[in-house]
Amino acid sequence: MPNQSFDPVEPNSLQPEVIAAAVAEARAAFDAARTLDALKVARLAHAGDRSPLALANREIGALPPAAKAAAGQRLGSARAEISKALTARQAELEAERDARVLVEEAVDVTLPTDRRLTGARHPLTTVQERIADVFTAMGYEVAEGPEVEAEWYNFDALNIGVDHPSRSLSDTFFVESEDSGLDLRTQTSPVQARVMLARTPPIYVICPGKTFRTDELDATHTPVFHQVEGLAVDEGITMAHLRGTLDHLAEEMFGEGIITRLRPSYFPFTEPSAEVDLVCFVCRGESVGNPERPCRTCNSEGWIEWGGCGMVNPRVLVTCGIDPERYSGFAFGMGIERTVMFRDSAEDMRDMVEGDVRFTAAFGVES
Ligand SMILES: [Zn+2]
Repeated sequence: MPNQSFDPVEPNSLQPEVIAAAVAEARAAFDAARTLDALKVARLAHAGDRSPLALANREIGALPPAAKAAAGQRLGSARAEISKALTARQAELEAERDARVLVEEAVDVTLPTDRRLTGARHPLTTVQERIADVFTAMGYEVAEGPEVEAEWYNFDALNIGVDHPSRSLSDTFFVESEDSGLDLRTQTSPVQARVMLARTPPIYVICPGKTFRTDELDATHTPVFHQVEGLAVDEGITMAHLRGTLDHLAEEMFGEGIITRLRPSYFPFTEPSAEVDLVCFVCRGESVGNPERPCRTCNSEGWIEWGGCGMVNPRVLVTCGIDPERYSGFAFGMGIERTVMFRDSAEDMRDMVEGDVRFTAAFGVES
């Protein structure tokens, strides 16, 4: 057979020493690559289509059949070795990169954070506004008046005689000098007098605002507090309208079924007058006569005191220029602090005035 005795001389690129040298070079280049980008360059040079061993592979086809197998095997294992070395180095560099990213992008939990707190509106404000909303929805207007008030509006116009104990220095802050005739209003009722003097009925107003009395600050008293008063003057206004209005307010503020009870009382500017009690919103009256389930909120009485009310005293109407033969009216008032205490279980009056943001923040931002 021709060529039988032919002892082919393998091309230089397929010589075992040359292949071994190519493998060693590839290994060295991979080891020298310090980054994944550098490794990519080394890969193209030593394992790519134009690499020495890829080019050597093309020479195999020209070999006689007897030589092909051996050369092919040699080249194949060399290329496998290079591929293995490449994969190993790739894994090392990726691991290094991941570790570096972890360090560089790590969040240091000990670093100071942005400690600015989101503020919250004071519950005294939001409750006042909520009460005002309940009434404006029924067609009432919100009326305001001065906090430094003429004694005449604060007392005389409201049928509070010169000898009434509430006019004493121990209850009222007077503005110097003593005969200035000015005080810090002790109630929001002077706003009602101002409205009645300025307007003709029908009058439906709600007056929220700050009031002042010479009380020491403690858990249940504060010298500056807030009230909301309502006044309706129209033809044919009766106690039934008052009662219905108070029940509506109570349910809007405390939930369904929390209605009011009126207890006879006395105030100079209303006649008849009554204290306004609320169904206890904690036990809803179930603690009454039930020693098994006592209620701290209402002392197991089923009712809690909320405010005062009554039919506007005809003498006040006359003083304010309104004909009591034609018109009648009702008025009521309650403390906002007390309402906040009930609604939000705030137990200490001092929390409301001391300005600790932790107190207001607990109420969130109500719109
Ligand atoms: Zn109760």
